[in-house]
Amino acid sequence: MKDSADSKDHQLTVALRVRPISVTELEEGATLIAHKVDEQMVVLMDPMEDPDDILRAHRSREKSYLFDVAFDFTATQEMVYLATTKSLIEGVISGYNATVFAYGPTGCGKTYTMLGTDHEPGIYVRTLNDLFCAIEETSNDMEYEVSMSYLEIYNEMIRDLLNPSLGYLELREDSKGVIQVAGITEVSTINAKEIMQLLMKGNKQRTQEPTAANQTSSRSHAILQVTVRQKSRVKNIMQEVRLGRLFMIDLAGSERASQDSLGGNSRTVMIAHISPASSAFEESRNTLTYAGRAK
Ligand code: ADP
Ligand code: MG
Repeated sequence: MKDSADSKDHQLTVALRVRPISVTELEEGATLIAHKVDEQMVVLMDPMEDPDDILRAHRSREKSYLFDVAFDFTATQEMVYLATTKSLIEGVISGYNATVFAYGPTGCGKTYTMLGTDHEPGIYVRTLNDLFCAIEETSNDMEYEVSMSYLEIYNEMIRDLLNPSLGYLELREDSKGVIQVAGITEVSTINAKEIMQLLMKGNKQRTQEPTAANQTSSRSHAILQVTVRQKSRVKNIMQEVRLGRLFMIDLAGSERASQDSLGGNSRTVMIAHISPASSAFEESRNTLTYAGRAK
């Protein structure tokens, strides 16, 4: 029998992804200081050159951090998706809520993991694909309707990334007590290729999305909200509508996550991101300390 701590553990899964070192980091003389040791452990090495400094700082040169699952540069987009997000789909179809969010400093791979590229699509598209397939394969008396919206929260204001001309939007509670963004664009079932184009276009609408030349921290959270509504196909009975929601969130760099507002019956997956480069030591250590369980 599972004890309560065990089942509580299952509500939050924490993954870590260490991206490949970049050409720029190598050109600037950075070395690799973050290493995946096994499927759950990552070691971060203090790049301080003078061993006496380390002694004076009263800490060992290496520290290990534990996660539910760890990925390094060898991990494909598919591997990250399969180990973090795929298992949430079944619950969402059954009417539960789930949240997947990318956390970590700017430039460490959050948007790569969530959105990805045309050739290496990330979690958004893979999830929607599998969600559509799973619904198609479900044979019961239910009728499913999937819709998605893509929004930005910037300085506590909400913008529709699929239609930025709407300006700032407001939160409202509907008659069933579900929090909705008033007036947000909802797109229903379309194919994966169209979704990717829509999301790429939406991502370009984000406020201050930092480029390589402008590494200032972005305070823009992007949220892809997928809603699965189900009702009975059988006529003449009360058409009970069940609603499952999946939030996929690309958090602003350096911001702490507080997702509490997203509701109670929710499973949450955090994917923390770091650079493996010595030049990123401080921010990597901060991220690992926040996200991991130090050993
Ligand atoms: P963030 O959203 O956290 O600011 P990005 O996702 O924009 O970071 O990543 C910064 C750069 O690193 C991008 O050019 C991205 O393509 C690249 N990158 C990040 N993660 C990976 C990865 N796992 N494999 C290959 N390139 C990556
Ligand atoms: Mg980003």
